[in-house]
Amino acid sequence: MSIADNIKHLKTQTVPKKVSLVAVSKTKSAAEIQEAYDAGQRLFGENQVQEMVEKQEQLPKDIQWHQIGHLQTNKVKYIAPFIAMIQSVDSLKLLQEINKQALKNNRVIDCLLQIYIADEETKFGLGFDEAIELLRSEDFAVLKNIRIRGLMGIATNTDKEKQLKDEFNELKVFFDGIKQSFFRKDDNFNVVSMGMSSDYEIAIAQGSTMIRVGSTIFGERVIKHWKNN
Ligand SMILES: *Cc1c(COP(=O)(O)O)cnc(C)c1O
Repeated sequence: MSIADNIKHLKTQTVPKKVSLVAVSKTKSAAEIQEAYDAGQRLFGENQVQEMVEKQEQLPKDIQWHQIGHLQTNKVKYIAPFIAMIQSVDSLKLLQEINKQALKNNRVIDCLLQIYIADEETKFGLGFDEAIELLRSEDFAVLKNIRIRGLMGIATNTDKEKQLKDEFNELKVFFDGIKQSFFRKDDNFNVVSMGMSSDYEIAIAQGSTMIRVGSTIFGERVIKHWKNN
């Protein structure tokens, strides 16, 4: 099936209307992204700053770009002028830099806190306690040019359905608690970003409001530079 067919299939068959679909286009060419765009897709996710910036320059300006991979503080300035959402906030220091660069660009940048839910030794994401500590801190309270829209999580790379279900459920329960404690009056705190190609149906059943899907739309990723794809 073509990229356009894959998007249409997702949007009409498997993804409920209330769930946002982020097309993960890392390693894919500008032409492939344009094909998805022409099929109506507007949200795209990338994990490399340089790659996103170059694509952003080439592609239609109403694309909403989401940063989904670990972001180094010294690279925030390159995406601050246009980024729609930074999903991978994993420290107060990064949030402070996003705030600073957003201010310089006269913007408020939407962010998700990335929460560590997998049963794996991955490097990135806040633990539950760390996220709470961040939200309670005075250093956080003064940041006026970022807006926390919700939480993001990546489940363990496994095909054990029970484990995936439990991890997604844990994130959703944590989201509900955080909403209650810190964002009760804030209708914009409404994003639970969880689920990728292999597990998005389980994630949606557990309350995901935003899925990040790459290979199901664009096909498997080959390890080649995106300009040569
Ligand atoms: C690559 C990536 C995805 C998409 O993965 P697929 O399995 O191709 O759907 C989703 N989320 C993050 C954070 C990623 O890095």
